[in-house]
Amino acid sequence: MLTQIVKVDSQEPDLRLLAEPAEALRHGELVAFPTETVYGLGGAALNAATVERIFAVKNRPADNPLIIHLPEPLLAAGLTSEISEFEAALMARFMPGPFTLVLSRHERVPDIVSAGQDTVAIRCPENPVAQALMRLAGIPLAAPSANRSGRPSPTLARDVAEDLDGQIPFIVDGGACQLGIESTVVIARDDYPIILRPGLVTREMLADFAVEYFGAERAERNRKRAEARQRERSRPQASPISPGQKYRHYAPQARLDIFTGEDSAARATDLRARIERYLVAELPQTSAKSLIGLFISSATLKAFKGDLDGSAALPELQMEVNIYAAEPDPIAAAHELFAALRSFDRSGAAVIFAEGLSGGADVEAYMNRLRRAADGGAEEE
Ligand code: AMP
Ligand code: MG
Repeated sequence: MLTQIVKVDSQEPDLRLLAEPAEALRHGELVAFPTETVYGLGGAALNAATVERIFAVKNRPADNPLIIHLPEPLLAAGLTSEISEFEAALMARFMPGPFTLVLSRHERVPDIVSAGQDTVAIRCPENPVAQALMRLAGIPLAAPSANRSGRPSPTLARDVAEDLDGQIPFIVDGGACQLGIESTVVIARDDYPIILRPGLVTREMLADFAVEYFGAERAERNRKRAEARQRERSRPQASPISPGQKYRHYAPQARLDIFTGEDSAARATDLRARIERYLVAELPQTSAKSLIGLFISSATLKAFKGDLDGSAALPELQMEVNIYAAEPDPIAAAHELFAALRSFDRSGAAVIFAEGLSGGADVEAYMNRLRRAADGGAEEE
């Protein structure tokens, strides 16, 4: 199959260019498109054969359910059997945006979309290209990230082509995704927002909203009850509540090592120690000159270089340095992470060192993706 790349303006896409991809979607074909989080692989959500094809193209495990994408939250009414007042308020507050809400599933949603669960995940992307395409198609779209299962999520059209070229008729190229990591996935069936996957709608924002909605005392009572019930549901012997959590995710080909510390100076010291360990323990087993990928802020890189100057130099290192921002900032790091991992893969890096960050509400989503990329991340199971 020939994959056509349709390039459009990221803010004001020409609807004439989107007509054909939208038509393809209505006919049950698959189209990759940009959202503010990552590129999605879209297909008609209510067409079971199309949804099967999404799983096949991605090589996605059948028990990992898909998120249904809609241009506006009101359209969720036809896909869910019940929406509580609090769930509706959450949707009104955080949609459109990088936020997914898991609701009770209407029987018209095929089993395969939800991997047999009695829930359905709903999201309304804000990205203008996604909005235009969804409205033109006029049908709910199941849309997981447009990568082969296990690989870093795509944040550029070329990343999608790298994984799916020749397997889908259209990739809509709307430039770089604004945020670069996937949506926050939340379930709120017990009148409190429980995070199933962290994202840029943060724990703090959700907690503040619950307090605004219920008042501090009732929100706290609801939180305790909801967390207890959630723990009960995700006991090891029970089926995982957000099955995507158990799979290897975002993984580059090279081993990824996270260096940490309170500030840039401490992280630079930790980085140096880790590189030294690598040189002693691992490098001798691999080819003589192997490439090191480094994902780092400019401030921490400066500290690292200072460290190198001040003591016995490390042997000549071959490094690809990817500077995600001037300062150690989790939003900027999240925006660049997946593209950097793919770039290190293309360069054939033997090992990747990435800057771990701590403190602040925005750190959780970035560190979640980084840890999963580092160890394949079955840790939350
Ligand atoms: P992806 O679309 O590849 O970003 O992955 C979607 C994520 O949403 C996965 O982690 C899924 O497990 C999660 N998800 C989708 N539908 C549901 C659902 N009905 N219940 C719980 N989690 C879900
Ligand atoms: Mg994914």
